[in-house]
Amino acid sequence: MSVIGIDFGNEGCYVAAARSGGIETLANDYSLRATPSFVAFDGKKRIIGVAAKNQQVTNMKNTVGGFKRLLGRKFNDPHVQHELKSIPARVEPRSDGSIGIKVNYLNEDQHFSPEQLTAMLFTKLKETSAAAMQTQVNDCVITCPIFFTNAERQALLDAAQIAGLNVLRLMNETTATALAYGFYKNDLFEDKPRNVIFVDFGHSALQVSACAFTKGKLKMLASSWDQIGGRDIDLALAEHFTKEFLERYKINAKSNARANVRLLAEIEKLKKQMSANSTKLPLNIECFLDDIDVSSSMQRSQMEELCAPILQRVEQTFKKLLVESKLSLDDIHSVEIVGGSTRIPAVKQLIEQVFNKPASTTLNQDEAVSRGAALQCAIMSPAVRVREFGVTDIQNYAVKVLWEGDGTSSNGEVEIFPQFHPSPFSRLVTIARKSPFVASIVYGQPVPYPDQTIGTWKIKDVKPTERGESQDVKLKVRINLNGIVLISSAVLVDRKEQEEAAAANEMATDEKAAGGEQAGTAGEQAEAQPEAYFENEDDINTSTASSPGGQGWAQRVKGWFGSGNDKTKKKIKKDIELPMEPITHGFEPAVLSGYAQQEAKMIGNDQKETERIDAKNALEEFVYDMRNKLQGGPLERYVLESDRESIVAQLNDLENWLYEDGEDCDRETYTSRLTALLQKTDPIKQRAQDYELCPAVFEELKNSI
Ligand code: ATP
Ligand code: MG
Repeated sequence: MSVIGIDFGNEGCYVAAARSGGIETLANDYSLRATPSFVAFDGKKRIIGVAAKNQQVTNMKNTVGGFKRLLGRKFNDPHVQHELKSIPARVEPRSDGSIGIKVNYLNEDQHFSPEQLTAMLFTKLKETSAAAMQTQVNDCVITCPIFFTNAERQALLDAAQIAGLNVLRLMNETTATALAYGFYKNDLFEDKPRNVIFVDFGHSALQVSACAFTKGKLKMLASSWDQIGGRDIDLALAEHFTKEFLERYKINAKSNARANVRLLAEIEKLKKQMSANSTKLPLNIECFLDDIDVSSSMQRSQMEELCAPILQRVEQTFKKLLVESKLSLDDIHSVEIVGGSTRIPAVKQLIEQVFNKPASTTLNQDEAVSRGAALQCAIMSPAVRVREFGVTDIQNYAVKVLWEGDGTSSNGEVEIFPQFHPSPFSRLVTIARKSPFVASIVYGQPVPYPDQTIGTWKIKDVKPTERGESQDVKLKVRINLNGIVLISSAVLVDRKEQEEAAAANEMATDEKAAGGEQAGTAGEQAEAQPEAYFENEDDINTSTASSPGGQGWAQRVKGWFGSGNDKTKKKIKKDIELPMEPITHGFEPAVLSGYAQQEAKMIGNDQKETERIDAKNALEEFVYDMRNKLQGGPLERYVLESDRESIVAQLNDLENWLYEDGEDCDRETYTSRLTALLQKTDPIKQRAQDYELCPAVFEELKNSI
């Protein structure tokens, strides 16, 4: 069984595998390491990756890219509406408000969700891995942008499940990069952290993270990001050329989707050339629109001017990280760059300006994310033996817990995880209650998603004590290995006196059992847990918790999150697990399994289609090959002339048939025709072989006839 890491980029994906010899980035069916994040459809099959992007211009409406940023979102989300401007396929809202991407597949209109399209891409990556590794792939680590919210993370996990991948961890992209860097460093110290900044400037996003490395461990400190990337640079340049062509040639590139796609492709090439060359470079497109050839040129300085607003945002994002990480320039060891757009010289200059260090290229800029993910997968999977390396990530947004009051108490809320809190992690909230209630988890700061709510959990079976008093309900709020926040359990606390220390121990073991994380991260997870879970003598109840500004609140919360050295008396004994009814992101299990079945069916169909095409190609190849061999070729002398003429006539007929009636037949038709032919040609081949083996016997036999 092999172990892989997937970097699912907005423009392209990379897959790396861990083998006993080390980490290897895998090549796809086109011998390329990058697989474009494109899926296309036609009357017979799906076309995924390189082939999909290659046929984009001739199959615009049924070719879809850019769906990474649609994951987990609704159709009327303003972000989705913005993204759809650059997706030429037809996209419609579905009855539940979700996104339906409409394509013509198997000669009928079908709708797919962004999650399904992502699953299709994962299927392709799975096949690439299986072909390269000569073994089945199941366990993987998939990366996602640090700014992905709960809904987007869950959507990515759903997509992986549809594709039949077992995700050991959803990992932030810059964290994977940090692991790819730190894992091989032999000069890290136990007590003196090395602070490294990682800049990933890709196709759709800029992510910057600060990481502290010690021997055998990494700890993410802070991150900043902006939703700008190479595609925004392409668009800024496209705006310029569109205006120029309108003036000079009176043609509007925007009026034609195909022309627009071609323009963007040429601009991307020009942009890459400009990274290496500061002189004026040409841009020529033949038959661009209305049969008009267009030509223009640009040089780097002009591009930098046109992209000044984008570069300004890049600079701001760098500066923000300095503030968020609280690192001084002297604290920073180096700035490592990855992602295609960090090749732009102006971006490297900004790095030098802001961080006072040259941009360092220790890592493979395109492959580092996938390699880090593969390393994490190897660390976590029992299938591969690899040295341990602890990874402590961060929760990118502050998280609050809210709970509704009952008859006698009002609503309450508390920030349970501040921004950049270590992850994975669990914390407890104890609430006094007499009856079932609803608790919600929400983001405690603006997030790039229209809904701040992560989920609501109906806590059931809560009753008053026999004396009619309220009982303590302890909610465990967890950021799991995937960066997903949830209430992982609710228990009713039996009020019997017990030492706090005992409670702390109980939680520590409980935590390991509940988390279900793999052995590879156990060490790191233990490190991420607080020393102990402390709960105030007076449990947080709605009347006090609902007045955060009130007296004693700060102290209460401080104590609540404090360390377990405190030997306060604690009223806790036998916890009773309470049933919960969660409403959070992601597909219902039944919907998910329906999608998985549909995916399996499509995989089967694609396989059948591949076999059909292979059978047709085999027949076609045979026709040409055999005709050449029989007419003036090596087999000519082993067949009677009359037989030869009849076989060649048959081959000619077959060739015509292949281009006419036989163009689109099923596999069996092609194979049966081939078999019929082989029956006639095999004896000729056999004679040739016999002769090669022993020409003398053959000559003797011939003379005796
Ligand atoms: P994301 O991380 O945003 O999801 P991604 O991982 O697919 O996207 P990358 O592969 O890191 O993105 O980078 C692709 C981007 O880098 C494209 O916009 C591409 O045009 C740009 N790029 C690649 N090489 C160069 C270069 N030499 N100069 C400028 N830009 C480049
Ligand atoms: Mg990327």
